[in-house]
Amino acid sequence: MPLPIEIFLYNTLTRAQVPLRPAEDSRLRMYTCGLTVYDYGHIGNYRTFVAVDILQRFLESEGYQLESVLNLTDIDDKMIERAQRAGRSVREHAEIFARAFAADMEFLGLRRPNHLVRATDFIPDMIAWIERLVASGHAYASQGSVYFRVASFPAYGKLSGKPLAELQSGARVDSDQYEKEEARDFVLWKAHKPGEPAWDSPWGPGRPGWHIECSVMSMKLLGESFDLHAGGADLIFPHHENEIAQSEAVTGRTFVRNWFHVEFLLVNGEKMSKSLGNYYTLRDLAAQGFHASGIRYLLASVPHRRQLNFTLEGLRQAESAVERLRAFRDRLRRAALGPGANPDLEAAIASAELRFRGSLAENLNTAGALAAIFDLLRSANQALDREALFVPEREAIERLLSRFDSIFGVVETDDRARLESYGDGSPSAGSTLADEAVERLLAERGAARRDRNFALADRLRAQLEAAGIVVEDTREGQVRWRRK
Ligand code: AMP
Ligand code: ZN
Repeated sequence: MPLPIEIFLYNTLTRAQVPLRPAEDSRLRMYTCGLTVYDYGHIGNYRTFVAVDILQRFLESEGYQLESVLNLTDIDDKMIERAQRAGRSVREHAEIFARAFAADMEFLGLRRPNHLVRATDFIPDMIAWIERLVASGHAYASQGSVYFRVASFPAYGKLSGKPLAELQSGARVDSDQYEKEEARDFVLWKAHKPGEPAWDSPWGPGRPGWHIECSVMSMKLLGESFDLHAGGADLIFPHHENEIAQSEAVTGRTFVRNWFHVEFLLVNGEKMSKSLGNYYTLRDLAAQGFHASGIRYLLASVPHRRQLNFTLEGLRQAESAVERLRAFRDRLRRAALGPGANPDLEAAIASAELRFRGSLAENLNTAGALAAIFDLLRSANQALDREALFVPEREAIERLLSRFDSIFGVVETDDRARLESYGDGSPSAGSTLADEAVERLLAERGAARRDRNFALADRLRAQLEAAGIVVEDTREGQVRWRRK
């Protein structure tokens, strides 16, 4: 085990990069805001989850023992609306997309958290917490709903840095339409409306507001004060600000010491949206023949506090970067090496390792970590050309590559197996394939047939058909295709 290094992370709460100091030495308690399971996860969501995955793998490789929680939001306005539109109960709807999320996690190689929890399994705990807020004057009931009284928590705004004036202006700060004392107060419990799922509570039947679930589940599983809380930057306000308020108002303790926020993923420089047609789920990309390794590589290649501009061209480049790493691994493995040693190269390996770990330790600078690996790859390739790479260097490089891969998870990934076992790899509704994507899938199918992997070939053909592409194999061994 290499010597421990100090890890620095940018903390949204203190607006500074600070050393990570868990309350209990090497045990680190961490909560991540997960997916609202009203639809398939999109690549923006997965940017956040890949960043968290890399952070967690890095912390583990540095000797931390993690206690991690990831939630699925399975009750909120969007859930209810989408389930109704699909003609399903909210529970059935959530089940479908929770399963799809599990398949996506598997496909992308995201480590499973210690606790993968769903909001509706914690309703009694939420009710109990809201009762404590009401009893202590931090919340009030009104027409069967309960609101948090923001005026009762003077530290409100400390995470987002929102000036109180902005919040007092009377602008709506939440999307609910119930009676409250002040516009900035937020809902903890929503009175029942016809057609919505409801649970009994001291305020009558209803359902929890969105924010309360994360406070209650995280504190129940990790304690009232824990080390690290993660999510996309869009959650800083109001979601995380509200989590702090409703937690600290009761406990009087610091709810979370470090806040880790991942900047947004954009597509071709714009916000991803279905109406702009630049909306990709993971399964859309898989259906276009892109691989888990390339997608992971791309999402990890930009440090989490910078926006990531996603393009298909960028994804292609990421796929070829992964190919370069694999080609190097193979070359190194197969090279016939003579006796000897190359002290210069050994020094380069040691410094690459330091640079790799040092970059990650500096606010998870994934770009710096990748640059360290690629620089070493160049030096090692040159040494191989000159027959100046020997057994000790090969072993040291293989050790570093395996350390790298235990964190980035892109080299030793059986992409084809991942694609084959993808839970439900069909493209999400409404997606169409560009010509280029069709060609890609056909090439992939051709390769599968040459490998006599007919199961995969059939699956790829089925994917094409699902997207309205008719494939014809001519007698001359050519493949033709057209749109239905
Ligand atoms: P949601 O399903 O909307 O609750 O989002 C699940 C997670 O994905 C949250 O942590 C969000 O902050 C994050 N997220 C949503 N959209 C994006 C995006 N475009 N880029 C990065 N993270 C995102
Ligand atoms: Zn949350």
